[in-house]
Amino acid sequence: MRLIKKVLLQSALILVVGAGLLGCSVEEKPQGDKVLLVSFDGFRADYLSKADTPNFDKLVEQGVISEGLIPIFPSKTFPNYYAIATGLYPENSGFIGNSMYDTTMNARFTMGDRDQVENPAWYGGEPIWNTVEKNGKKAGTMFWVGSEAPIQGMRPTHWKPYDGSMPDSARIDSVIKWLSYENEKEVDLGTVYFSFVDSRGHRYGTDAPEVKEAIQRADDLVGYLMEQMEAKGLSDNTNLMIVSDHGMADVSRERIVVLDEMINPEDVEMIEYSPSVMMNVKEGKLDEVYSSLKANEEHFKVYKKEDIPERFHLKGHPRVPEILMVADVGYTINAREYFDRREGYPSGGAHGFDNQAPEMHALFVAKGPDFKSGYKMRPIENIHLYSMMAHLLQVQPAKTDGDLDSVKVMLKGN
Ligand SMILES: [Zn+2]
Repeated sequence: MRLIKKVLLQSALILVVGAGLLGCSVEEKPQGDKVLLVSFDGFRADYLSKADTPNFDKLVEQGVISEGLIPIFPSKTFPNYYAIATGLYPENSGFIGNSMYDTTMNARFTMGDRDQVENPAWYGGEPIWNTVEKNGKKAGTMFWVGSEAPIQGMRPTHWKPYDGSMPDSARIDSVIKWLSYENEKEVDLGTVYFSFVDSRGHRYGTDAPEVKEAIQRADDLVGYLMEQMEAKGLSDNTNLMIVSDHGMADVSRERIVVLDEMINPEDVEMIEYSPSVMMNVKEGKLDEVYSSLKANEEHFKVYKKEDIPERFHLKGHPRVPEILMVADVGYTINAREYFDRREGYPSGGAHGFDNQAPEMHALFVAKGPDFKSGYKMRPIENIHLYSMMAHLLQVQPAKTDGDLDSVKVMLKGN
């Protein structure tokens, strides 16, 4: 009895001393106990300066804004949503493009193919909703890339197959309901996704009045969201993060790279498309195709798989094809036949360019009990957000390419 008491006392002492030594306040328990992750697809970092955005302004004033959320390469939608969810670069998650081919599976992934979208074999790593559920907490995804597949044999407590026709306010209503249930269905992590800013950017280009209108519509939704959070008492216990997957750059028929002027398009099989073209080459033709492209390297960069720059964190995955071409910002790569069949193509905007290009940088705004107030921060990489969410939710994180240290300066007490 006495011995047990002594051991207990010692353990308590170790705990106290341990906590003191850690010192760093990020180790303290966060004030908030919920996280709401909102994403506006294709919302470029500088879009907030293109329109009147009173609701975003309020958030920025009371919370944190980053000069830009740096996407992973390629700066396309699916790979970036999955990088935010897992904290992994594509070479570690396997999610290397919007379109992929896997030799072992002998299968092709495209965003419109439901069977593949729901096939967990494409999705490596551990998405944050699995981490949450494994720790005895709950997650609800009102659309997020990966949430439709039973990754590691699991799914979020609440999830919906993607339905582009679902009204935006209804998406907010659903996730607010999940966060504020007073029963075993109540979630700790909620996500919401909106596509319209991206669609407008693609169709009209970044300076169009239609994009300005979309930015204002996003701002109205943020206003509605804040109202609903306040009404349900979520403002004080929920850390809200509003992000985007990538930015947007204007493209034009004046800026094109025609493959046929350099190689025979019949010699290659395109797996992923402009502006980051990934292709396999007919047997025995690799050196010839690469040399011709390299000799004509204007308005793009070309790499053999093994020479892809380290900073793209891409080449280590078996799904990466033999050749990568990356168009300069604003340029479009394709075969002659493709351009010929489409008058006026390309126009509007595109993304998928080098992720260091400022045009590809995305939105990051956050507010909540654990975020500093009125704090502006340098650009941050999106692979760190998983670590921050895991910290805010007090769940044991999986191994990732990101870390909390790179972003914790935006949290109170740091
Ligand atoms: Zn897009």
